Amino acid sequence: MTFSGFDLPDELQMLSDVIADFVRDEIVTAESALDPAVRDLPADVLAGLQAKAKELGFWCLDAPREFGGGGLSAFEMAVIWEQATKHRFSFPHPGAGVFGFSPPVVMYRGSPQQIEEYVRPTIDEGWLSFTAISEPSGGSDPARSIRTTARRSGDTYILNGRKMWATNADHGRYGVVYARTDSAAGRSGISAFVVDAGTPGMSTTSVPVLRNHWTTELTLEDCEIPAANLIGEEGQGFALVQEWLVRGRLAYAAQAVGVATESVRLAIEWAQQRETFGELLAARQGVQFPIADSLVEIEAARLLTWRAAWAHDQGRDARTEASVAKLYGTEMGFRVVDRAIQILGGMGVSKDMPLEHWFRDLRVARIVEGASEIHRYLIAREALGGAALGQRAAAPAVDGVVPRATPA
Ligand SMILES: Cc1cc2nc3c(=O)[nH]c(=O)nc-3n(C[C@H](O)[C@H](O)[C@H](O)COP(=O)(O)OP(=O)(O)OC[C@H]3O[C@@H](n4cnc5c(N)ncnc54)[C@H](O)[C@@H]3O)c2cc1C
Repeated sequence: MTFSGFDLPDELQMLSDVIADFVRDEIVTAESALDPAVRDLPADVLAGLQAKAKELGFWCLDAPREFGGGGLSAFEMAVIWEQATKHRFSFPHPGAGVFGFSPPVVMYRGSPQQIEEYVRPTIDEGWLSFTAISEPSGGSDPARSIRTTARRSGDTYILNGRKMWATNADHGRYGVVYARTDSAAGRSGISAFVVDAGTPGMSTTSVPVLRNHWTTELTLEDCEIPAANLIGEEGQGFALVQEWLVRGRLAYAAQAVGVATESVRLAIEWAQQRETFGELLAARQGVQFPIADSLVEIEAARLLTWRAAWAHDQGRDARTEASVAKLYGTEMGFRVVDRAIQILGGMGVSKDMPLEHWFRDLRVARIVEGASEIHRYLIAREALGGAALGQRAAAPAVDGVVPRATPA
Protein backbone atom coordinates (compact mmCIF):
# COMPACT_ATOMS: atom_id res chain seq x y z
CA MET A 1 0.00 0.00 0.00
CA THR A 2 1.32 3.43 -0.87
CA PHE A 3 -0.39 6.78 -0.70
CA SER A 4 2.55 8.95 -1.60
CA GLY A 5 0.58 10.76 -4.26
CA PHE A 6 3.47 10.71 -6.70
CA ASP A 7 3.56 8.95 -10.02
CA LEU A 8 7.04 7.67 -10.70
CA PRO A 9 8.34 7.98 -14.26
CA ASP A 10 7.06 4.97 -16.25
CA GLU A 11 10.52 3.50 -16.81
CA LEU A 12 11.42 3.70 -13.11
CA GLN A 13 8.06 2.30 -12.05
CA MET A 14 8.56 -0.60 -14.43
CA LEU A 15 12.08 -1.31 -13.14
CA SER A 16 10.84 -1.13 -9.55
CA ASP A 17 7.99 -3.59 -10.33
CA VAL A 18 10.27 -6.02 -12.15
CA ILE A 19 12.81 -5.95 -9.28
CA ALA A 20 9.97 -6.51 -6.78
CA ASP A 21 8.81 -9.55 -8.81
CA PHE A 22 12.36 -10.88 -9.06
CA VAL A 23 12.89 -10.53 -5.29
CA ARG A 24 9.59 -12.30 -4.53
CA ASP A 25 9.84 -15.04 -7.17
CA GLU A 26 13.56 -15.75 -7.09
CA ILE A 27 15.24 -14.55 -3.89
CA VAL A 28 12.42 -15.25 -1.41
CA THR A 29 11.81 -18.62 -3.04
CA ALA A 30 15.52 -19.52 -2.71
CA GLU A 31 15.64 -18.33 0.90
CA SER A 32 12.49 -20.23 1.82
CA ALA A 33 14.08 -23.50 0.70
CA LEU A 34 17.01 -23.05 3.12
CA ASP A 35 17.35 -24.37 6.64
CA PRO A 36 16.20 -21.49 8.92
CA ALA A 37 19.54 -21.68 10.79
CA VAL A 38 21.53 -20.82 7.62
CA ARG A 39 23.17 -17.41 8.04
CA ASP A 40 23.50 -16.39 4.42
CA LEU A 41 22.72 -17.46 0.88
CA PRO A 42 25.03 -20.40 0.08
CA ALA A 43 27.66 -19.57 -2.58
CA ASP A 44 26.12 -21.75 -5.32
CA VAL A 45 22.62 -20.33 -4.73
CA LEU A 46 24.01 -16.79 -4.75
CA ALA A 47 25.94 -17.46 -7.97
CA GLY A 48 22.81 -18.83 -9.68
CA LEU A 49 20.73 -15.82 -8.66
CA GLN A 50 23.51 -13.42 -9.66
CA ALA A 51 23.64 -14.97 -13.14
CA LYS A 52 19.88 -14.40 -13.56
CA ALA A 53 20.09 -10.84 -12.23
CA LYS A 54 22.97 -10.06 -14.58
CA GLU A 55 21.05 -11.43 -17.54
CA LEU A 56 18.11 -9.17 -16.69
CA GLY A 57 20.39 -6.14 -16.37
CA PHE A 58 19.96 -5.72 -12.59
CA TRP A 59 23.66 -5.48 -11.97
CA CYS A 60 25.50 -2.93 -9.78
CA LEU A 61 22.77 -0.44 -10.61
CA ASP A 62 24.24 2.11 -8.18
CA ALA A 63 27.76 2.08 -9.62
CA PRO A 64 28.69 4.80 -12.14
CA ARG A 65 28.04 3.82 -15.76
CA GLU A 66 31.61 4.71 -16.79
CA PHE A 67 32.86 1.75 -14.70
CA GLY A 68 30.29 -0.72 -15.96
CA GLY A 69 27.52 -0.05 -13.42
CA GLY A 70 23.91 0.95 -13.98
CA GLY A 71 24.54 4.63 -13.21
CA LEU A 72 21.15 5.14 -11.54
CA SER A 73 20.49 8.43 -9.74
CA ALA A 74 20.11 8.67 -5.95
CA PHE A 75 16.32 8.94 -6.37
CA GLU A 76 16.15 5.91 -8.65
CA MET A 77 18.27 3.93 -6.20
CA ALA A 78 16.03 4.97 -3.28
CA VAL A 79 13.09 3.41 -5.14
CA ILE A 80 15.06 0.29 -6.09
CA TRP A 81 16.69 -0.35 -2.68
CA GLU A 82 13.23 -0.30 -1.11
CA GLN A 83 12.11 -3.20 -3.32
CA ALA A 84 15.44 -5.05 -3.20
CA THR A 85 15.24 -5.31 0.59
CA LYS A 86 11.98 -7.23 0.86
CA HIS A 87 13.56 -10.58 1.70
CA ARG A 88 15.30 -12.20 4.65
CA PHE A 89 19.04 -11.72 4.01
CA SER A 90 18.67 -8.17 2.73
CA PHE A 91 21.15 -6.39 5.03
CA PRO A 92 23.90 -5.29 4.73
CA HIS A 93 23.90 -5.86 0.96
CA PRO A 94 20.48 -5.04 -0.51
CA GLY A 95 19.55 -8.10 -2.48
CA ALA A 96 22.10 -10.12 -0.44
CA GLY A 97 24.63 -9.47 -3.21
CA VAL A 98 22.32 -10.97 -5.85
CA PHE A 99 22.46 -7.62 -7.68
CA GLY A 100 26.26 -7.47 -7.45
CA PHE A 101 28.74 -5.93 -5.04
CA SER A 102 29.86 -2.41 -5.78
CA PRO A 103 33.36 -1.38 -4.68
CA PRO A 104 34.00 0.96 -1.72
CA VAL A 105 32.90 4.31 -3.14
CA VAL A 106 36.28 5.99 -2.58
CA MET A 107 37.64 3.66 -5.30
CA TYR A 108 35.71 5.62 -7.93
CA ARG A 109 38.31 8.36 -7.35
CA GLY A 110 41.15 5.90 -7.86
CA SER A 111 43.93 6.07 -10.44
CA PRO A 112 43.37 4.53 -13.91
CA GLN A 113 45.41 1.53 -12.71
CA GLN A 114 43.23 1.12 -9.58
CA ILE A 115 40.09 1.37 -11.71
CA GLU A 116 41.34 -1.40 -14.02
CA GLU A 117 42.74 -3.66 -11.28
CA TYR A 118 39.99 -3.31 -8.69
CA VAL A 119 36.90 -1.32 -9.69
CA ARG A 120 36.11 -3.02 -13.01
CA PRO A 121 36.62 -6.61 -11.79
CA THR A 122 34.58 -5.84 -8.66
CA ILE A 123 31.67 -4.76 -10.82
CA ASP A 124 32.15 -7.28 -13.66
CA GLU A 125 32.90 -10.35 -11.56
CA GLY A 126 31.11 -9.60 -8.28
CA TRP A 127 34.24 -9.35 -6.13
CA LEU A 128 33.65 -8.83 -2.44
CA SER A 129 35.64 -6.03 -0.79
CA PHE A 130 35.76 -4.31 2.60
CA THR A 131 36.21 -0.89 4.14
CA ALA A 132 38.23 -0.44 7.33
CA ILE A 133 37.74 2.91 9.04
CA SER A 134 36.66 2.13 12.63
CA GLU A 135 39.24 1.23 15.25
CA PRO A 136 39.15 -0.02 18.84
CA SER A 137 39.48 3.68 19.80
CA GLY A 138 36.12 4.46 18.14
CA GLY A 139 34.16 4.80 14.93
CA SER A 140 31.92 7.86 15.37
CA ASP A 141 34.73 10.39 15.17
CA PRO A 142 37.32 8.74 12.92
CA ALA A 143 39.19 11.99 12.25
CA ARG A 144 40.33 11.85 15.88
CA SER A 145 40.18 8.14 16.66
CA ILE A 146 42.19 6.70 13.75
CA ARG A 147 45.55 5.61 15.16
CA THR A 148 46.60 3.29 12.30
CA THR A 149 49.60 4.81 10.56
CA ALA A 150 50.93 4.63 7.00
CA ARG A 151 54.59 5.57 6.64
CA ARG A 152 56.11 6.19 3.24
CA SER A 153 59.27 4.18 2.60
CA GLY A 154 60.65 4.52 -0.94
CA ASP A 155 58.00 3.25 -3.33
CA THR A 156 55.96 1.56 -0.59
CA TYR A 157 53.82 2.46 2.42
CA ILE A 158 54.12 0.55 5.68
CA LEU A 159 50.86 0.19 7.60
CA ASN A 160 50.63 -0.45 11.34
CA GLY A 161 47.55 -0.52 13.56
CA ARG A 162 44.25 -2.25 14.37
CA LYS A 163 40.84 -1.90 12.77
CA MET A 164 37.54 -3.00 14.30
CA TRP A 165 34.32 -4.32 12.80
CA ALA A 166 35.49 -4.30 9.17
CA THR A 167 32.70 -6.27 7.45
CA ASN A 168 33.92 -9.03 5.11
CA ALA A 169 37.62 -8.34 5.72
CA ASP A 170 38.06 -12.12 6.03
CA HIS A 171 36.14 -12.79 2.78
CA GLY A 172 36.96 -9.81 0.55
CA ARG A 173 39.51 -9.89 -2.29
CA TYR A 174 40.77 -6.48 -1.17
CA GLY A 175 39.79 -3.60 1.02
CA VAL A 176 40.23 0.10 1.58
CA VAL A 177 42.09 0.91 4.79
CA TYR A 178 42.04 4.43 6.20
CA ALA A 179 45.30 5.37 7.94
CA ARG A 180 47.07 8.42 9.28
CA THR A 181 49.82 9.82 7.07
CA ASP A 182 50.19 13.00 9.13
CA SER A 183 49.97 12.76 12.89
CA ALA A 184 49.66 16.53 13.34
CA ALA A 185 46.66 17.09 11.03
CA GLY A 186 43.18 15.87 12.05
CA ARG A 187 40.80 14.97 9.23
CA SER A 188 43.30 16.08 6.58
CA GLY A 189 45.92 13.70 7.98
CA ILE A 190 43.90 10.62 6.96
CA SER A 191 44.59 8.78 3.68
CA ALA A 192 42.90 5.83 1.98
CA PHE A 193 44.81 2.78 0.69
CA VAL A 194 43.87 -0.34 -1.26
CA VAL A 195 45.15 -3.45 0.48
CA ASP A 196 44.95 -6.90 -1.13
CA ALA A 197 43.72 -9.82 0.96
CA GLY A 198 46.66 -11.96 2.01
CA THR A 199 49.20 -9.13 2.04
CA PRO A 200 51.91 -10.19 4.51
CA GLY A 201 51.48 -8.35 7.81
CA MET A 202 47.67 -8.20 7.55
CA SER A 203 45.57 -10.66 9.56
CA THR A 204 41.90 -10.90 10.51
CA THR A 205 40.00 -12.31 13.46
CA SER A 206 36.26 -12.83 13.33
CA VAL A 207 34.21 -10.69 15.75
CA PRO A 208 30.73 -12.24 15.98
CA VAL A 209 27.91 -9.74 16.49
CA LEU A 210 24.16 -9.68 17.07
CA ARG A 211 23.21 -9.99 13.44
CA ASN A 212 24.49 -12.62 11.04
CA HIS A 213 27.52 -10.84 9.76
CA TRP A 214 31.11 -11.13 9.03
CA THR A 215 32.60 -8.43 11.22
CA THR A 216 36.30 -8.75 11.83
CA GLU A 217 39.19 -7.22 13.63
CA LEU A 218 42.03 -6.40 11.27
CA THR A 219 45.63 -6.26 12.44
CA LEU A 220 48.30 -4.54 10.38
CA GLU A 221 51.88 -5.22 11.43
CA ASP A 222 54.52 -3.71 9.17
CA CYS A 223 52.13 -4.41 6.29
CA GLU A 224 53.96 -3.20 3.19
CA ILE A 225 51.95 -2.13 0.15
CA PRO A 226 52.97 -0.39 -3.10
CA ALA A 227 52.88 3.42 -2.95
CA ALA A 228 50.63 3.19 -6.03
CA ASN A 229 47.91 1.82 -3.70
CA LEU A 230 47.34 5.27 -2.20
CA ILE A 231 43.91 6.50 -3.40
CA GLY A 232 44.02 10.11 -4.52
CA GLU A 233 46.60 12.11 -2.62
CA GLU A 234 47.85 11.93 0.94
CA GLY A 235 45.33 13.49 3.33
CA GLN A 236 42.40 13.15 0.91
CA GLY A 237 40.92 10.00 2.48
CA PHE A 238 37.74 11.64 3.74
CA ALA A 239 37.49 14.46 1.21
CA LEU A 240 37.20 11.91 -1.62
CA VAL A 241 34.09 10.23 -0.18
CA GLN A 242 32.10 13.41 0.49
CA GLU A 243 30.07 13.18 -2.70
CA TRP A 244 28.87 9.66 -1.78
CA LEU A 245 27.89 10.37 1.82
CA VAL A 246 24.32 11.15 0.83
CA ARG A 247 23.90 7.92 -1.14
CA GLY A 248 25.33 5.85 1.71
CA ARG A 249 22.84 7.26 4.20
CA LEU A 250 19.93 6.98 1.77
CA ALA A 251 20.67 3.32 1.04
CA TYR A 252 20.00 2.58 4.73
CA ALA A 253 16.92 4.80 4.83
CA ALA A 254 15.39 3.18 1.74
CA GLN A 255 16.20 -0.35 2.93
CA ALA A 256 14.51 0.39 6.26
CA VAL A 257 11.40 1.60 4.40
CA GLY A 258 11.34 -1.61 2.35
CA VAL A 259 11.69 -3.89 5.36
CA ALA A 260 9.11 -1.93 7.36
CA THR A 261 6.63 -2.06 4.47
CA GLU A 262 7.01 -5.83 4.20
CA SER A 263 6.74 -6.25 7.99
CA VAL A 264 3.48 -4.37 8.20
CA ARG A 265 2.13 -6.35 5.25
CA LEU A 266 2.87 -9.57 7.14
CA ALA A 267 1.23 -8.13 10.29
CA ILE A 268 -1.90 -7.16 8.33
CA GLU A 269 -2.16 -10.60 6.73
CA TRP A 270 -1.81 -12.23 10.15
CA ALA A 271 -4.32 -9.94 11.85
CA GLN A 272 -6.87 -10.62 9.09
CA GLN A 273 -6.89 -14.37 9.72
CA ARG A 274 -5.88 -14.89 13.38
CA GLU A 275 -8.66 -15.17 15.97
CA THR A 276 -8.37 -14.79 19.73
CA PHE A 277 -11.25 -14.75 22.22
CA GLY A 278 -13.67 -15.36 19.33
CA GLU A 279 -12.64 -12.28 17.34
CA LEU A 280 -10.18 -11.53 14.56
CA LEU A 281 -7.08 -9.68 15.75
CA ALA A 282 -7.85 -7.15 13.00
CA ALA A 283 -11.05 -6.22 14.85
CA ARG A 284 -9.11 -5.08 17.94
CA GLN A 285 -8.19 -1.45 18.28
CA GLY A 286 -5.02 -2.52 20.12
CA VAL A 287 -3.91 -4.16 16.87
CA GLN A 288 -5.35 -1.59 14.48
CA PHE A 289 -3.53 1.38 16.00
CA PRO A 290 0.03 0.06 15.76
CA ILE A 291 -0.71 -0.89 12.14
CA ALA A 292 -2.04 2.60 11.45
CA ASP A 293 0.94 4.26 13.19
CA SER A 294 3.32 2.07 11.20
CA LEU A 295 1.71 2.98 7.86
CA VAL A 296 1.96 6.69 8.69
CA GLU A 297 5.58 6.43 9.79
CA ILE A 298 6.59 4.37 6.73
CA GLU A 299 5.05 7.01 4.50
CA ALA A 300 6.90 9.80 6.32
CA ALA A 301 10.21 7.93 6.06
CA ARG A 302 9.72 7.28 2.35
CA LEU A 303 9.00 10.93 1.65
CA LEU A 304 12.03 12.07 3.67
CA THR A 305 14.19 9.63 1.72
CA TRP A 306 12.83 10.68 -1.66
CA ARG A 307 13.15 14.37 -0.79
CA ALA A 308 16.82 14.02 0.18
CA ALA A 309 17.56 11.91 -2.91
CA TRP A 310 15.81 14.38 -5.18
CA ALA A 311 17.68 17.36 -3.67
CA HIS A 312 20.99 15.50 -4.10
CA ASP A 313 20.19 14.75 -7.75
CA GLN A 314 19.47 18.46 -8.30
CA GLY A 315 23.09 19.14 -7.29
CA ARG A 316 22.19 20.56 -3.86
CA ASP A 317 24.04 19.82 -0.65
CA ALA A 318 21.60 17.27 0.81
CA ARG A 319 23.79 15.88 3.60
CA THR A 320 21.51 17.11 6.38
CA GLU A 321 18.36 15.90 4.58
CA ALA A 322 20.08 12.53 4.18
CA SER A 323 20.90 12.49 7.92
CA VAL A 324 17.23 13.19 8.65
CA ALA A 325 16.16 10.34 6.35
CA LYS A 326 18.72 7.84 7.74
CA LEU A 327 17.93 8.71 11.36
CA TYR A 328 14.16 8.63 10.96
CA GLY A 329 14.12 5.67 8.55
CA THR A 330 16.22 3.27 10.62
CA GLU A 331 14.58 4.24 13.94
CA MET A 332 11.16 3.91 12.29
CA GLY A 333 12.04 0.56 10.69
CA PHE A 334 13.08 -0.87 14.05
CA ARG A 335 9.83 0.29 15.70
CA VAL A 336 7.67 -1.09 12.90
CA VAL A 337 9.37 -4.50 12.83
CA ASP A 338 9.02 -4.66 16.63
CA ARG A 339 5.27 -3.91 16.36
CA ALA A 340 4.84 -6.52 13.62
CA ILE A 341 6.60 -9.13 15.78
CA GLN A 342 4.21 -8.32 18.64
CA ILE A 343 1.17 -8.75 16.40
CA LEU A 344 2.41 -12.13 15.16
CA GLY A 345 3.20 -13.28 18.72
CA GLY A 346 5.38 -16.40 18.80
CA MET A 347 5.41 -16.61 15.00
CA GLY A 348 6.96 -13.14 15.00
CA VAL A 349 10.19 -14.41 16.51
CA SER A 350 10.17 -17.74 14.67
CA LYS A 351 13.08 -18.30 12.30
CA ASP A 352 10.49 -19.42 9.73
CA MET A 353 9.62 -15.72 9.38
CA PRO A 354 11.97 -12.95 8.24
CA LEU A 355 10.95 -10.57 11.06
CA GLU A 356 13.47 -11.68 13.69
CA HIS A 357 16.24 -11.33 11.10
CA TRP A 358 15.18 -7.78 10.19
CA PHE A 359 14.82 -6.91 13.87
CA ARG A 360 18.52 -7.71 14.36
CA ASP A 361 19.52 -6.01 11.11
CA LEU A 362 17.71 -2.81 11.99
CA ARG A 363 19.17 -2.78 15.49
CA VAL A 364 22.58 -2.69 13.81
CA ALA A 365 21.42 -0.17 11.18
CA ARG A 366 20.87 2.36 14.01
CA ILE A 367 24.64 2.17 14.75
CA VAL A 368 26.38 1.85 11.37
CA GLU A 369 26.66 4.47 8.60
CA GLY A 370 26.61 7.07 11.40
CA ALA A 371 24.86 6.10 14.64
CA SER A 372 21.52 7.80 15.32
CA GLU A 373 23.17 10.14 17.84
CA ILE A 374 25.70 11.26 15.24
CA HIS A 375 22.94 12.16 12.79
CA ARG A 376 21.10 14.02 15.57
CA TYR A 377 24.33 15.89 16.23
CA LEU A 378 24.78 16.74 12.52
CA ILE A 379 21.17 17.96 12.25
CA ALA A 380 21.51 20.03 15.43
CA ARG A 381 24.83 21.48 14.25
CA GLU A 382 23.19 22.62 11.02
CA ALA A 383 20.37 24.26 12.99
CA LEU A 384 22.42 25.76 15.82
CA GLY A 385 25.57 26.70 13.88
CA GLY A 386 28.70 27.42 15.90
CA ALA A 387 26.69 27.41 19.15
CA ALA A 388 26.36 23.63 18.78
CA LEU A 389 30.15 23.53 19.13
CA GLY A 390 30.00 25.76 22.22
CA GLN A 391 31.01 28.92 20.34
CA ARG A 392 29.28 32.05 21.63
CA ALA A 393 28.16 34.49 18.96
CA ALA A 394 27.80 38.22 19.64
CA ALA A 395 24.13 38.74 20.59
CA PRO A 396 22.28 40.44 17.72
CA ALA A 397 21.01 43.98 18.13
CA VAL A 398 17.20 44.04 18.02
CA ASP A 399 15.51 47.10 16.53
CA GLY A 400 18.55 49.23 17.20
CA VAL A 401 18.65 48.30 20.89
CA VAL A 402 22.17 47.31 21.89
CA PRO A 403 21.87 44.11 23.94
CA ARG A 404 23.31 43.87 27.42
CA ALA A 405 26.12 41.47 28.18
CA THR A 406 25.35 37.87 27.22
CA PRO A 407 23.76 36.11 30.21
CA ALA A 408 26.11 33.72 31.98
C1 LIG B 1 27.67 -5.05 12.24
C2 LIG B 1 28.64 -3.91 12.10
C3 LIG B 1 29.30 -3.74 10.92
C4 LIG B 1 30.26 -2.72 10.80
N1 LIG B 1 30.98 -2.62 9.63
C5 LIG B 1 31.98 -1.72 9.57
C6 LIG B 1 32.84 -1.68 8.40
O1 LIG B 1 32.66 -2.43 7.44
N2 LIG B 1 33.85 -0.79 8.38
C7 LIG B 1 34.09 0.07 9.43
O2 LIG B 1 35.03 0.86 9.34
N3 LIG B 1 33.29 0.07 10.53
C8 LIG B 1 32.26 -0.81 10.62
N4 LIG B 1 31.47 -0.83 11.73
C9 LIG B 1 31.72 0.10 12.82
C10 LIG B 1 30.69 1.19 12.93
O3 LIG B 1 30.87 2.12 11.89
C11 LIG B 1 30.85 1.81 14.33
O4 LIG B 1 30.41 0.85 15.27
C12 LIG B 1 30.08 3.09 14.47
O5 LIG B 1 30.65 4.10 13.67
C13 LIG B 1 30.11 3.57 15.93
O6 LIG B 1 31.41 3.57 16.41
P1 LIG B 1 31.75 2.84 17.79
O7 LIG B 1 31.12 1.50 17.78
O8 LIG B 1 33.21 2.92 18.00
O9 LIG B 1 31.02 3.70 18.89
P2 LIG B 1 31.55 5.06 19.54
O10 LIG B 1 32.02 5.98 18.47
O11 LIG B 1 32.47 4.75 20.64
O12 LIG B 1 30.19 5.61 20.14
C14 LIG B 1 29.52 4.88 21.18
C15 LIG B 1 28.11 5.41 21.32
O13 LIG B 1 28.15 6.77 21.69
C16 LIG B 1 27.34 7.52 20.82
N5 LIG B 1 27.97 8.83 20.59
C17 LIG B 1 29.15 9.05 19.99
N6 LIG B 1 29.41 10.37 19.92
C18 LIG B 1 28.32 10.98 20.47
C19 LIG B 1 27.95 12.35 20.68
N7 LIG B 1 28.74 13.35 20.26
N8 LIG B 1 26.77 12.61 21.30
C20 LIG B 1 25.98 11.61 21.71
N9 LIG B 1 26.26 10.31 21.52
C21 LIG B 1 27.42 10.00 20.90
C22 LIG B 1 27.24 6.73 19.53
O14 LIG B 1 26.06 7.02 18.87
C23 LIG B 1 27.28 5.32 20.04
O15 LIG B 1 25.97 4.91 20.29
C24 LIG B 1 30.50 -1.84 11.87
C25 LIG B 1 29.80 -2.00 13.08
C26 LIG B 1 28.90 -3.03 13.20
C27 LIG B 1 28.20 -3.19 14.52
